[in-house]
Amino acid sequence: MKLDRIIRKNIAALAPYSTARDEYKGEIGIYIDANENPYPTGYNRYPDPHQSTLKKVISEIKNIPTKNIFLGNGSDEAIDLLFRVFCEPKEDEAIVITPSYGMYSVCANINNVKLISVQLDNDYFLEADAILKNVTPSTKLIFLCSPNNPSGNLLNKDEIIKIITNFEGIVAIDEAYIDFAEDEGFVPLLNTYDNIVVLQTLSKAWGMAGLRLGMAFASEEIIDVMTKVKYPYNINCAGQHLVLEELTINKAKKEAELKEIISEREILKVELSKIKYIEKVYPSDANFILIKVPEATKLYNFLISKTVIVRNRSRITGCADTLRLTVGTPEENITLLNLLRTDEEGTFYR
Ligand SMILES: *Cc1c(COP(=O)(O)O)cnc(C)c1O
Repeated sequence: MKLDRIIRKNIAALAPYSTARDEYKGEIGIYIDANENPYPTGYNRYPDPHQSTLKKVISEIKNIPTKNIFLGNGSDEAIDLLFRVFCEPKEDEAIVITPSYGMYSVCANINNVKLISVQLDNDYFLEADAILKNVTPSTKLIFLCSPNNPSGNLLNKDEIIKIITNFEGIVAIDEAYIDFAEDEGFVPLLNTYDNIVVLQTLSKAWGMAGLRLGMAFASEEIIDVMTKVKYPYNINCAGQHLVLEELTINKAKKEAELKEIISEREILKVELSKIKYIEKVYPSDANFILIKVPEATKLYNFLISKTVIVRNRSRITGCADTLRLTVGTPEENITLLNLLRTDEEGTFYR
């Protein structure tokens, strides 16, 4: 793929902001080059704009060279950057699947980029041809999400590969939930395809939603442009420090919790399937389960009245009468199940 053909001209020509630390990289000295306050507070200095230490640790965990890693203020920053880098407002187009994560269309709208939504099939699986037939010479970006939110399933890998190999633009594969799946996703294929961007996050399996750390993995060329366009200090000192601590000191604890969430998901699947009025428990490779029930909004309100808050997805096209349940602690899951089991026919909420 020729990156020049799909990157916006003003971005290709952009000279990035050069920080004080870009211009002098030494370790010791009297630093009077960045107009910082000299009195130490632990955060009087600007953070590392390249997040070098953090990238090194993530590189080891993910087995990806640091040159192929971009770190952002959540994956939401990476999603927005993809539009800003590749899509000329009012000219270019992007394709998303539906139902899927809402931020792709929000970012498209903010950037004034025309978005084509392609409906997944009735069981929320992907057909490459349905996507490919919507590609025009102006299509620069295709967003896929696997495991998909809100449906929970991994998309078929062969169909994704068919899209990647038949599209001369960027395919972003959002793997926010990949750690919950028994699948290695597209990271091992980064060297095979130069037009993919794999998005992952520390918000879900790693339990750091509050720290806002998203990751994009791609070719060095793509990572370099994303890095050029990001705000220089997009990850603050406290964020970099706390994430490092979690990834190193607390790694074993995180892994044990991840295992428990996956086994709780399997228990929830079985127990939800036993409840008669639940019409469908969708397959899940993520940390949530989508269910279809009669009059979902009434069940949603019933659960709220019992202070259990789930996500009502009923208004989304293709998701009528569905609720999305995040896997909680074993105690929380029991509370949820007991409420849902109030009676067999679901008359308690209707
Ligand atoms: C939760 C989620 C994210 C995470 O976004 P962050 O900005 O990293 O917190 C990304 N994509 C999908 C599909 C999600 O559900």
